[in-house]
Formats: sequence, structure tokens, C-alpha cells
Amino acid sequence: MQFADRLNNVETSAIRELFKLLGKPGIISFAGGFPDPAMFDVEGIREASNEALTDEPGGALQYGATEGYGPLRDQLSALMATKGARVQAEQLIVTTGSQQALDLLGKTMISPGDKVIVEGPTFLATIQCFRLYGAELISAPIDAEGVKTDELEQLIAQHKPKFVYLIPTFGNPSGAMLSMERRKKVLEMAVRYNTLIVEDDPYGELYFGEPPPPSMLALSESVPGSRELLAHCGSLSKVLSPGLRVGWMIAPAELLAKATMCKQFSDAHTSTFAQATAAQYLKAGRMPAMLLNVRKVYAERAAAMGRALQQTLGDAVGFTQPAGGLFFWARLTGAGGKTQDAGDFAKKAIEQGVAFVPGAPFYAAQPDMSTFRLSFATADVAKIEEGVGRLGKAL
Ligand code: PMP
Repeated sequence: MQFADRLNNVETSAIRELFKLLGKPGIISFAGGFPDPAMFDVEGIREASNEALTDEPGGALQYGATEGYGPLRDQLSALMATKGARVQAEQLIVTTGSQQALDLLGKTMISPGDKVIVEGPTFLATIQCFRLYGAELISAPIDAEGVKTDELEQLIAQHKPKFVYLIPTFGNPSGAMLSMERRKKVLEMAVRYNTLIVEDDPYGELYFGEPPPPSMLALSESVPGSRELLAHCGSLSKVLSPGLRVGWMIAPAELLAKATMCKQFSDAHTSTFAQATAAQYLKAGRMPAMLLNVRKVYAERAAAMGRALQQTLGDAVGFTQPAGGLFFWARLTGAGGKTQDAGDFAKKAIEQGVAFVPGAPFYAAQPDMSTFRLSFATADVAKIEEGVGRLGKAL
């Protein structure tokens, strides 16, 4: 077979290879990026899908508009308003997961050789997707407060990227939360350098204590000119159900029109049945109570994981306790002569019956081999304690 040249830039992810090992019986997995299926509001979704079929069966089962199902766009506009962002229904399109929004951004914005700045580390599928379009990825360093804005500014000035891709709130894999001050700085930079910023925000609702700072989309109202340089990707995957494949993108009109055109050739539209179900679910008003429970459960699991890591691994591992999201991002310090290679550690951990993902694949450049990602979302507190105990034996 003679495949397209663009495939030369990507390979199947190391994580997929690792996932093949997860079938081993008895393994405790901190490797996935999935929400806990036990927390899906099955009853609520059943009612919503029934309503969708009763209310407007034609709309729910017929082809639909590429931009999205009208009632869902209205509900998403209302949802964004509750989070402080004024967005008209026409200013967003529904996408098949936010993954498709990222793909559409790649398709509409990236020509081979274009530079794109991403965080180091960042979401693996974004790295792969942008590379597929031929992007040259530049990695901007982060700390617990998200991307380091001084370094980011230097990189923007030096590379003049096509855009900057950030996961400002409880990043995957970093768990980091971009501070209020830095959010504003990034928006000011967008204006100063006339650079598009992409805000990917699937985790913002999964906070454990105080809510995070407003999204950059919400803040853009207070930084003149920045809204026209901002694309925002949202998703119901981590708060309702990833299987529904409902995400959305808010972007300047010109960009949204091009993305919509590309979506037309891609999947025509996101499943109308899924969209109508999501619209009914949001309309029924079940989301706030459901989220309260999800936040509580994940907060307990995150606290348990932090405690267990501290007790079991001590100073051999460094991490910042995440304030939301699904992940711990940790680093092997080498203390006590223990290994600093997270790849070796992952292999030994599998032998002990616990899985996680080494950090290297999450870097577009200069990987830090000592890093790794642990998800606390799908194991209960007892499993988390048992799993971290096994990590202790593997180190
Ligand atoms: N962005 C980030 C940062 C993610 O972690 C994910 C899912 N893991 C996505 C986008 C895609 O999610 P979905 O397509 O299910 O909305």
C-alpha cells in the first residue's frame, strides 16, 4: 500500500500499546483517561432519549444541520452563560466530541511546516492530530500554575506560531490549573502578537473545592480584542458521557465557517440522536446535582491517591495535589537511589499488577523521562490504596 505522506509524521501511540496489557486479570489501572462508568446518570439519559424520540422524532433521527441541532446549541449557549461566557447559539458549532473540534482546527489552520505551540506536556491525541496536518510543534514549559507565561511569550515572539494550544484548567496529563493572572497575560499576549489561542476545556467542571478561575473565553470580555483571537473547545464527555460524542467549538465567525465547511465533508453532522438526547438532558436540569456527586467522588479519590502516594513513595516521587480533573502528574525524584525512568517503573508496575502511563509521549519535544500520569477516576478508594501499595513494591 502507498499511504499518504502525511502519515509519516505520526505513529500509533505508546499508550495504546500499553493498554493491550491492561486485560491481565486483577490489574488495577491508573492508566486510562476515562470517567467512571459507575457515575453515568443512566436513568437521566434514558429519560432524555425517550423525550428526544417523543418530542421531535423527525429531528432526532433525520439528517441535521452541520452546525448542530438547534435546541442543543441553545442549551449549550445557556450552559456557557452559567459559566460566565456570553455566547450566542450561532457562535458555536456542535462537534463529534471535542476531539473533532481539535481535528477541525488542525484541518482549517495548519499547513505543512506551520508552527504550533503546545504545553509540555499536553494531550497526546492533540500532538498526533496536529502532526498529521504537518505541524511543527513547539513545547512551552509548565509548572503547577499552568504554562509559564514569560517563556510562552518568548516562544511566540521567536516562532510566530499559527496558534497556541492550551488546556488551562486541570490539564491532561498535567492536572495543572492556569492561574488567573496568567490567563489574563495569555489573552493580552494574543492581542499583542495577533496570535490565535485555542482553549481546550473538557475538565473545568470537575473541580474539588473552590471553582477554578473563569475560562479564558469568559475572561476575554475584559481584554479588548482577545475574543476575536480565541477558539474554545468544550465537551460533555467528562461530565455526562463520552459515548454520546457531544462536544462543541466556539470561535471567531470566519474560523467557525471554515470549520463547519470541513465538518460537512467529514461527518456531515454529529449524531442527531445524541444531540437531541443531550439537549433534553440539559433541559431537564439534572446536570448540577449530578456534577455535585461526581465532584465529591473524584475529590475523595484524588485525596486518597495523594495520601497514599505520600505515605508509600515518600520523597521518591514529587507531585502537586490536583484541584480538579482526573489526573496526578508525578515525577520520580531519584531519592534513595530509586529509578528515575518512568518507562522502567511502568514495566515493573505491570508485573506488580498496577498500570499507569509514563509521561514521555505527552511531550511534543524534549520529554522528561522521569514523569508519569496516574488517573484516580475509575478506581475506588480501596483500590487506589491497594494500587499505590503495589507501586511502592515496583519502585
Ligand atoms: N481534550 C482533552 C484535553 C482531553 O483529555 C480529551 C479526552 N481525553 C479530549 C480533548 C477529547 O474528548 P472528547 O472528544 O471525548 O470530547
